[in-house]
Amino acid sequence: MKINVLDGSNQIGGNKINVTYVDSSFKDISSFKTSLMFDFGADLGKQSELYPPFSEPKKHTGLNVFFKYDLLPRLEGVYRRDLEKHSRLTSKPTSIDALFLSHAHLDHAKYLHFLRKEIPVYSSLETKLILKSIQDTGVGGYDQFIKFHPQFQLRPAKKGKKLVRVTSRDQEYTVERPYHTLQPEESVEINNLEIQMVPVNHSVPGACGYIIYSDKGNLVYTGDLRPGDLTSRFVELAAAAKPKWLLCEGTRVNTEKRETEEEVGEEINRWINDCEGLAIIDYPHRNIPFVKKIWEAAKEHDRDLVITLKQAYLLDLFEKNGIKTLTTKSPNIKIFIPNQGWGCATRDFPEGQLKQDYLSWQKSYLEDEDEDKRLLFINQLEEQQIGLVFPSIGLWGLDDIDEITLKAGSSWKQATCDPFSDQGEINRKILNRRLKVSGIKKAHKSHASGHASGPELEEIIRTINPEILIPIHTEHPEILRSFMK
Ligand SMILES: [Zn+2]
Ligand SMILES: [Zn+2]
Repeated sequence: MKINVLDGSNQIGGNKINVTYVDSSFKDISSFKTSLMFDFGADLGKQSELYPPFSEPKKHTGLNVFFKYDLLPRLEGVYRRDLEKHSRLTSKPTSIDALFLSHAHLDHAKYLHFLRKEIPVYSSLETKLILKSIQDTGVGGYDQFIKFHPQFQLRPAKKGKKLVRVTSRDQEYTVERPYHTLQPEESVEINNLEIQMVPVNHSVPGACGYIIYSDKGNLVYTGDLRPGDLTSRFVELAAAAKPKWLLCEGTRVNTEKRETEEEVGEEINRWINDCEGLAIIDYPHRNIPFVKKIWEAAKEHDRDLVITLKQAYLLDLFEKNGIKTLTTKSPNIKIFIPNQGWGCATRDFPEGQLKQDYLSWQKSYLEDEDEDKRLLFINQLEEQQIGLVFPSIGLWGLDDIDEITLKAGSSWKQATCDPFSDQGEINRKILNRRLKVSGIKKAHKSHASGHASGPELEEIIRTINPEILIPIHTEHPEILRSFMK
């Protein structure tokens, strides 16, 4: 078995791991090769050094600018044929049998967009639904995770002989990727390899690691993880596999601090209790178990948890697919309808204009007659602020409340990790300035990482006890290696 860490070894994120197995018994005919990819994420750190926030190489440049800046590895038989053609590259036969995603964080999944439409994708159901929600609620960036829309293609016009451009609205040209979801601990066989999906604890629902069984030795891939009941079971199964190789993440290997979401939940509870105005919290909005903790704290202090439309969309997808967690109909939940477009929600425009301010997936919430779903417009936010916990997703959440007068004693809390880039530092300064102008107090930061600490990783590695350790997702591979001595 050949393990090639294409990206994501001496850095945090951008995981792209290629595992190739050659069945030598086929040598006389033609060697029988199985090639699997584990994760295909974006190196967001590198990208932030090259591009300002929310900007990426322009779509018309195809693959070439991604190659130029080493944002994508130069691979054959992997990338979309439409982009290869547009980039004047020769398309070779498809060289990958399947992609396995560990979780829906973009540093692991984002560049699925660039993979050929025939490559099967495997992940947990939650991962698929999160990726679906990102694509469905996005604005057509590099996010064709579930639905594949051909690019740079022409079709005959409905009338006349002209050729027109195929767009994402042309349903007949849209292809669903061959996406398979795996149940916890379910295995799938691809040629001579058996790949088992095992859930782990991390800061997003549906995170998993994989155990790959082969007659040449077994391989364990951790994905991203932190301690918890799921991770304990994963470590147990990984150890039982007596792996030859362990691909282990080491994001926080250089820190000894153990952090739990329980402690952070308690801190948030106390903060809400002490807050005299609007309680504004910045947190990873797709980490649904954590959202549930904030909701419980809000409820305890008779406040409603306000969620964004994107969060509502994801919770509704989860509910429709039988995943039991918080729903948009749970008590003490309000769905925030931000003022956008012309801001018709708080101005006198004829009826019908309000909907014009919103995208079609957002409109479905405005049209929803379900009384259990409580919508919150900006004027209601202003009136009810003492009874609410409001989400600020990064600095941008403040845009939504800039036009209201906040009560004295309003407070902003960071429950995300510290910025890891120069741009993140600049954003923090901008945020501090705007909080000051708006009279919002900045509360103490409370954050539990989704990654295990050094001592926790040492215990995981010693328990799994592989023959060979391959450090990934870390800036300190040497510390991880020292645990093997
Ligand atoms: Zn990661
Ligand atoms: Zn992650």
